[in-house]
Amino acid sequence: MQTFQPLTPALIEQLRAIVGREYVSTDTSALELHGRDETEDLFFPPDVVVRPSNAEEVSALLQLATRERLPVTPRGGGTGLSGGALPVCGGIVLSMERFNRILEIDEENLQAVVEPGVITETFQKSVEEKGLYYPPDPASRGSSQLGGNLAERAGGPHAVKYGVTGDYVLGLEAVLPSGALLRTGARVLKNATGYNLTQLLIGSEGTLAVITRIILRLIPFPRERKVLLAAFPSLEQAAAAVASLFQSGVTPATCEFLERAAVEVAEERLGRKFPNGSAAAQLIVEVDGNHEPALAEEIQVIAGALERHGASDLLLAEEPRKIREVWDLRRGIGEAVKAISAYKEEDTVVPRSKLPMLVNGVKEICTRYGIRSICYGHAGDGNVHVNLLKGDMDDSAWARSSGEAVREIFQLAVSLGGTISGEHGIGFTQKEYLPIALDAQALRVMREIKKVFDPAGILNPGKVLAEEKDAGV
Ligand SMILES: Cc1cc2nc3c(=O)[nH]c(=O)nc-3n(C[C@H](O)[C@H](O)[C@H](O)COP(=O)(O)OP(=O)(O)OC[C@H]3O[C@@H](n4cnc5c(N)ncnc54)[C@H](O)[C@@H]3O)c2cc1C
Repeated sequence: MQTFQPLTPALIEQLRAIVGREYVSTDTSALELHGRDETEDLFFPPDVVVRPSNAEEVSALLQLATRERLPVTPRGGGTGLSGGALPVCGGIVLSMERFNRILEIDEENLQAVVEPGVITETFQKSVEEKGLYYPPDPASRGSSQLGGNLAERAGGPHAVKYGVTGDYVLGLEAVLPSGALLRTGARVLKNATGYNLTQLLIGSEGTLAVITRIILRLIPFPRERKVLLAAFPSLEQAAAAVASLFQSGVTPATCEFLERAAVEVAEERLGRKFPNGSAAAQLIVEVDGNHEPALAEEIQVIAGALERHGASDLLLAEEPRKIREVWDLRRGIGEAVKAISAYKEEDTVVPRSKLPMLVNGVKEICTRYGIRSICYGHAGDGNVHVNLLKGDMDDSAWARSSGEAVREIFQLAVSLGGTISGEHGIGFTQKEYLPIALDAQALRVMREIKKVFDPAGILNPGKVLAEEKDAGV
């Protein structure tokens, strides 16, 4: 791995001069907190945590880091699942928590200007109060930040109808590792002006620039919604129903897939029962809009399509309280699964019609390696979160078997026309698998792009792209 300069007391003094003494932390609790995110049980403490509040401070900090060869890891809410915010080379964690202002909600043009440290759900609630909607809704939205969502190109259940985070970003302000300020995009809905640098930074996982301001597109808030819960006697039938549902001519707002084990762990953790909790698999299908009769009709069409694929019990939630209960349980699954044992969470995505092959294949691979697996996720997007649980497997067997099982699962996803991450990113944990999904030429172009933005390699080192000598490209 690339080597960096140590953070001497004199350099820490310079950081204090840039952001103010109280916003530079070297105490053990701050270093421990910022040495973890939600990825497995990995821990890489930084040498210092710095919390700037504006782009000028970020610029001065990055100039210093580039000049002195200091590694800098940007951090949002720390909810990432691929280790993007882990300071794997030590050095500086650049926390964005003080960039927490919603600068403008432009009701006339349905746009907003925000700082990247705004919590996703806080922003959603603020625009909803004005009858507006910002659909990207990762299940972690109560603690993830908009900047972290952009950097990971986050999705969520509503992506199936409304698209992912990147589909709502019109422009950005970002600071390059040199300290230069880069402004991309404009406050317009169409833009054919040069290369699309906005979309290049989205999904760049904090390796190209630090995002300091965001222009977002909004839409009107749909006033009505209904949720259908469909129970299936087998995983394969639930997976196969998904493609037919979309062929019925209705686009649901969400189409989530849960296997029984996922429901059971969420029930246990939340102390509440999920309707149809004993079914082998369930789909949660939501429709939304402004005209209740139209939604009732759509529900009929969807129910017909699901029944043709063996859905037995169909339950409709229409009251806001009931709908909230369903989503609370769904959003609780991720945390509940992670509380069982050490785990690896994979984020495979395939064309919708290939879901049954993916789910069957994952079960077969995990059984062969003696690993318990729990699958759930955004079936409407073909995006299945595969959780591999360590249980009581000994450490060396787990390290070997889980690594090999993940490799086979990724090879399967790619062979089905899919890829290895739909929304969690590559970060630290998936970079060794990137060549399964991308060919040598694509990796070469990505390396060149990284060099243009960050020739000294100080920004989020050890992420996305493996060291050239390890990758062989
Ligand atoms: C229970 C649970 C449920 C989840 N559900 C979903 C889901 O439904 N959909 C989904 O997509 N993800 C989900 N995630 C994953 C995670 O929440 C997302 O990846 C989220 O976008 C990370 O945001 P964050 O603010 O926590 O970023 P962090 O984890 O802090 O950082 C993520 C990456 O972004 C970079 N970064 C952060 N801020 C900036 C910035 N301002 N400029 C440049 N780079 C920056 C970091 O360097 C890092 O590489 C879930 C996670 C958990 C724990």
